[in-house]
Amino acid sequence: MTARRAVIVGAGGLGGPIALSLGRAGLELVIVDPDVVELSNLHRQIHFATAELGAAKATALAASVTAAGGAARGHVARWTPEIADELAGDAELIVDGSDDPATKFAVSDWAVANGRSYVIASALRFSGNAMVGAPGTACYRCLFEEPVEAPSCADAGVLGPVVGAIGGVAAALAIGLARGDRSHAGSIFVFDDLRVATDPRIVKFMARRDCPTCMRAPISPFDSPARAAGQKGS
Ligand SMILES: [Zn+2]
Repeated sequence: MTARRAVIVGAGGLGGPIALSLGRAGLELVIVDPDVVELSNLHRQIHFATAELGAAKATALAASVTAAGGAARGHVARWTPEIADELAGDAELIVDGSDDPATKFAVSDWAVANGRSYVIASALRFSGNAMVGAPGTACYRCLFEEPVEAPSCADAGVLGPVVGAIGGVAAALAIGLARGDRSHAGSIFVFDDLRVATDPRIVKFMARRDCPTCMRAPISPFDSPARAAGQKGS
């Protein structure tokens, strides 16, 4: 499968490098974010300029992608299941760089239910991770089960270079998926502490038998690999 369209959820420190990279790779983007550019965010959202303070992040980032020769439109809203069909109906790939655990679960649940590939990226302080999912593989909910109250970047802080690094990894993984590379699907790349520059741990995990998302998936990880591949289509 070669993806032509992607939805980027979150236009902040992770969403910026993800959108700019995927736009340069030739994907048509819809960028979804409810917030505006704020001065206190600029240290980790280096894709925004002070001239954009007060502008909607989704719109401003889409304009940057377009100025760099890509194709993108911004949608100023929080991703919810209610608007997901409209936003992502024709996108083959969803990439989450939001700062909100509930949104990450909503993105992954929708992607699994609709047979789409996805990447979920997170960064906090000096650490981060990026999980890759595709139809027929274990999902984000298999791994984390439920959203937990976690400190956000806004509350706990994160360095600009850390979100840039994790966003770059997430973009590379997403571009791989867009080109049909499923080798990392069902895995999570974990960076424990970027200051010590150890390699990421790449953890391949199994689908959880009682995962409600996978139980309802049209292409289930509990099927045989051959059957899952056959249902994948083109
Ligand atoms: Zn699952």
